[in-house]
Amino acid sequence: MTPFATPTQLLNILSPLDATAENFELIAPPASHPTVSTDTRTLQPGDIFLALRGETFDGHGFVQVAKQQGASLAIVDQAMTTPIPQIVVQDTLAAYQILGQWWRQQFQIPVIAITGSVGKTTTKELIAAALGCYGKVLKTEANYNNEIGVPKTLLQLTDDHDFAVIEMGMRGPGEIALLSRVAQATVGVITNVGTAHIGRLGSREAIAQAKCELLAQLPKTSTAILNGEQPLLLAMAEKVWAEKTITYGLETGKLRGTLLPDNQIEINGQVFPLPLPGRHNALNFLATIAVTQALGLDLMPLQSGITVQLPPGRAKRYTLETDIVLLDETYNAGLESMLASLQILAETPGTRRIAVLGPMRELGDYAVALHQEVGARVKDLQLDQLLILDTEAEGQALAQGATPIPTQQFSQHQDLIEHLKTIIGPGDRLLFKASHSVGLDRVVKALRESG
Ligand code: ATP
Ligand code: MG
Repeated sequence: MTPFATPTQLLNILSPLDATAENFELIAPPASHPTVSTDTRTLQPGDIFLALRGETFDGHGFVQVAKQQGASLAIVDQAMTTPIPQIVVQDTLAAYQILGQWWRQQFQIPVIAITGSVGKTTTKELIAAALGCYGKVLKTEANYNNEIGVPKTLLQLTDDHDFAVIEMGMRGPGEIALLSRVAQATVGVITNVGTAHIGRLGSREAIAQAKCELLAQLPKTSTAILNGEQPLLLAMAEKVWAEKTITYGLETGKLRGTLLPDNQIEINGQVFPLPLPGRHNALNFLATIAVTQALGLDLMPLQSGITVQLPPGRAKRYTLETDIVLLDETYNAGLESMLASLQILAETPGTRRIAVLGPMRELGDYAVALHQEVGARVKDLQLDQLLILDTEAEGQALAQGATPIPTQQFSQHQDLIEHLKTIIGPGDRLLFKASHSVGLDRVVKALRESG
């Protein structure tokens, strides 16, 4: 077992943050496998307690509890009166990231980092499932893809792991660069550049640039894996990355896939079953094959198929007893994922196809135009009905774009639920999708419970 740092080593690792020691005379012999914990509810005796400050919580209020639970050391941003060995640093979040990076460096294993506007979690799960055929995989749990989640995941590495698969999200420039420096990935995947957070970033170019921070920070010996169907991404990537690259796509790209009937894909003469429906998931699968190839692994084990269990609200399909199918994509929504999900709805055999949509958030000045674009797709796909949970500008833009498809807007969840209960019948196929905060998952839940 790779030993974790001693308090004195930690002091040294954290020296860029002006770390100072407090109460080091209280240091006890090390526990067998201490790790860094930020939560006293899961802290194990011997662990190092690192106090994070957030908007609604402050770990410094839990140092005493951490000591009672057997913490061996506390990392804090001001000396605490609790009699426990402490390292005082300027910024405990930065300390967490430095420790995550340091711990990752103790392991000579492939680390795969994934970013992109959409498809990160899906691709992360696909890659983790695929690599699971070759060894033990550590992966980002759920959607812990931010400045806390990435170090948290890396700090869980043990000698048992053969691969680490790390999701990286962002809300603004500079964030991916930081996460990429922490993870020091050997393979970096960018699934796409879309419009998520465009309200904050201003343009697709700015989004592409922010995603490509992943590549700018990769070690030169790493491999970049890029969606080859996106010229903007490729152009931006070229500016910062000249090393090994695999592009993938169904129409272009070095690694080319051809869709076959029965949800299969052919790649370089080999046929694979696709674990998830839809063209966009075929692309996510191609990214997965590209990773496997980059790591020099034999693709044979993947030909018998991989299964993935995605977190709630993504690619979930519920069939009610009355032969009504609910496609639950309520986890989140942006332009690209809306279009991808509508396509799946259109391709689902049944009698009527009904899109139940709500607003996509954080689109700023682009909001009206992008909602109209989604509405227009509802029209182009000739769906039977569009029900909208929003009566404001975004909902109106959706409705406008979809004209002349029959459309109805609702301001309350309950009204939408009641309406759906009265209109749906056998053979209906429904898609539910909106930004997370809209809470469309409540509507899906109500319909499932009513059978
Ligand atoms: P977040 O930023 O919230 O972490 P994410 O990038 O992890 O999102 P996922 O959770 O994988 O994205 O997928 C969200 C939705 O995007 C899915 O439910 C699906 O509808 C759609 N999606 C997944 N992959 C793609 C893709 N490659 N292109 C377009 N849409 C996609
Ligand atoms: Mg995600």
